[in-house]
Amino acid sequence: MSGSREERDVIVVGAGPVGLTAALALSQEGLRVAVLEKLPEPSTEWRASTFHPPTLEIGLDLGVAGEMLRQGLIAPRYQIRDRRTGIVAEFDFSALSDETPYPFRLQLEQYKYVQILERRLRDLYPDCPVRYGQEVTAVSNRDGGAEVTVHDGSRWWAPWVVAADGARSVIRRELGISFEGLTYEHRYLVLSIDYPMDQLVPGICEVNYVADPDEHLLLLRIPDLWRVVLSVPPEIGSDEATSPAYVRKRLALLIGDGIDLPVRESTVYAVHQRVAGQFRDGRVLLVGDAAHINSPMGGMGLNSGIHDAYDLATHLTATVRGEEPESTVDDWAARRRQVATEEIYRLTHQTTTAMAESDENERLAFQRRMAGIAADRALAKEWMLEASMISNVRRHGLPERAAARTVLGRVGER
Ligand SMILES: Cc1cc2nc3c(=O)[nH]c(=O)nc-3n(C[C@H](O)[C@H](O)[C@H](O)COP(=O)(O)OP(=O)(O)OC[C@H]3O[C@@H](n4cnc5c(N)ncnc54)[C@H](O)[C@@H]3O)c2cc1C
Repeated sequence: MSGSREERDVIVVGAGPVGLTAALALSQEGLRVAVLEKLPEPSTEWRASTFHPPTLEIGLDLGVAGEMLRQGLIAPRYQIRDRRTGIVAEFDFSALSDETPYPFRLQLEQYKYVQILERRLRDLYPDCPVRYGQEVTAVSNRDGGAEVTVHDGSRWWAPWVVAADGARSVIRRELGISFEGLTYEHRYLVLSIDYPMDQLVPGICEVNYVADPDEHLLLLRIPDLWRVVLSVPPEIGSDEATSPAYVRKRLALLIGDGIDLPVRESTVYAVHQRVAGQFRDGRVLLVGDAAHINSPMGGMGLNSGIHDAYDLATHLTATVRGEEPESTVDDWAARRRQVATEEIYRLTHQTTTAMAESDENERLAFQRRMAGIAADRALAKEWMLEASMISNVRRHGLPERAAARTVLGRVGER
């Protein structure tokens, strides 16, 4: 092996939320990990803000759940609403208190999760450096592992490389792996508003999905602000969508004229549903957005990326130690691809199309169904087990979150 390249047990490409989850889980198991990140410092992107119960259980096993809870906002309920007629259904996650120690959604900005992981890695595993300013430009399977090349020509080698380099993954492209799916016509304009929106839109709770054939939206409370996620039609360009005049016009439709809301940030995102053709190529493994991207409706994209990383770390560790055959990594790749296509794609697409449904009969049928589910305790619980991803992780055998089981056991004994 050439002496000029650095070596580790695992190299993680991308220090986003999924890459850092993988790095922390692998380091916790005693593997020697390095993380290569192209940005000069930790990302401050907001994007995701919803963390579901199984993800918090993973956080507990990784020793970060306490800090997540401290910085986040607990959302005990969520609503489905119609823009014209108001509330359709409300779900209270406390019905899940015998299923998880975290019967709620935690609202926490993605960049804060990244900071929490980064700090824990730095404090506990100084041998797992996050190398900032390292843009990976190439990858190849070689010498029984995989080698990555960085923009400055330096090379890293490991028996396994985890590609967590996001939706535009260079690694996925380098390996020629397809990324099939769809891009919706509408985009989302995400506004961060420093005003208590519940004073302007009566009756809303912390998380609200609002259906409308022309202007469906999401209203979310996050720790210090409110987020309004508005659908933007294709004919409106991104510059126009973020212009103060357009933002004011769209907000006026929601809350009426004459109120000038303090908008702290406005960003437009295209909305996709895409899944990589394979999650494994030789010794390179795709996780998170590099492997699948989803509509933010339902808040499952990042959560399932974290589940990819946690599931992978468990089996990769056992494989590296010789406790499990390498084929368990193939099983992981098949399992997580199945989750991405059959669960996450399906559910987030369903929610997105239901919110935007233009056929009056279809819209009313959906609303009647949701109202019926919410009114029936057993059906409502079943629905919340799906919406909070608990059923999904049970169906697909996510490794046991030991610490969370212990906490739930203690709750059960009380
Ligand atoms: C508006 C919006 C709201 C959302 N809300 C939610 C939500 O509430 N819940 C949810 O679960 N999901 C949500 N999502 C999805 C979520 O944001 C993504 O799934 C998440 O960011 C994926 O994390 P990741 O680490 O895989 O990728 P990323 O966050 O994209 O991180 C990839 C990292 O890799 C680095 N990188 C890229 N290329 C290279 C390279 N060549 N070399 C080295 N480093 C590289 C990048 O700089 C970045 O730091 C939302 C998305 C959007 C757009």
